[in-house]
Amino acid sequence: MLRLLAFTVLTAAATFTAFAEGSAPAAPAAAPVAAEPAANPASPAKPAETTDTASAPTPAAPAPAAPVKLTFTRCNVDGPYIAITFDDGPHPTQTPRLLAMLRERKIHATFFLVGQCVAENPEIAKQIVQEGHEVGNHSWSHPNLLKLSADSVRDQLERTHNVITQEAGVVPLIMRPPYGNFSQQQRAWAHATWNYPTIIWDVDSLDWKHRNPAKTESIIMANTRPGSIILCHDIHKTTVDAMPSVLDKLIAKGFKFVTVSELIKMHHEPIAPLVPAKVAKAPTLTAKKAATAATSLKDLDTPKPKAKPKTKTKP
Ligand SMILES: [Zn+2]
Repeated sequence: MLRLLAFTVLTAAATFTAFAEGSAPAAPAAAPVAAEPAANPASPAKPAETTDTASAPTPAAPAPAAPVKLTFTRCNVDGPYIAITFDDGPHPTQTPRLLAMLRERKIHATFFLVGQCVAENPEIAKQIVQEGHEVGNHSWSHPNLLKLSADSVRDQLERTHNVITQEAGVVPLIMRPPYGNFSQQQRAWAHATWNYPTIIWDVDSLDWKHRNPAKTESIIMANTRPGSIILCHDIHKTTVDAMPSVLDKLIAKGFKFVTVSELIKMHHEPIAPLVPAKVAKAPTLTAKKAATAATSLKDLDTPKPKAKPKTKTKP
């Protein structure tokens, strides 16, 4: 028994070390993902090639070409969708208070749970899931993961993954590192190991710092936009005190609440990079028009710098 356990631990440690020390994060992330499905359909792969040669290369090509997005700080979505997140619980009294507020407004939130708090409050963890909220992995004891050994990081995330699965009855799909501290290599490793994207935030209520409901509300209301991921902590009474007003005002502004995983599903990459390319072509196409406009404007005694932007804005 002991030998078996020791072997398992050593193998696990060796696997993590390989990912942690890898220079290219894409390679370790792709390798284990590809290895799992390849093991099962080893024989069915052959008939697929012979019977359907036309469609076979099509699904195979995009898979390696599509870059894996390891981190979300916010999402690009078509619509007023936002995700509000609550970290560091479950808390024995504040989390149930918050759940009642969310239930009343039919809002689904996301809770990044600390493993040891799940172990202490398993019924509340279960209630969070039963009421339709998402739960994510927020480590076992909330350390700075950047300062831990590879084995300790694995232990922190693995124990939490398992206690959430056992007590809340759902497998977590996402993780958030305490303090947002997680290296690119650790993110690639977490994705390869549990398929976790790393979830950060774009709206930080700083509720843990000021402990002021009015400030919590003003920060959230001033910074939330479509696709936002809002960071709060349901272990503080002042944060939960702020929530009825925050939630009602966000609803009044037209925002719609979804879980982080739902928001990620709506995400598409920004199309902004295409815009400069179009703008760059426009001046060459309208060069003649610009020249004629400039000459006519000269007659009106206007300076050159003003003439160019005016003609650019027309097309
Ligand atoms: Zn935290």
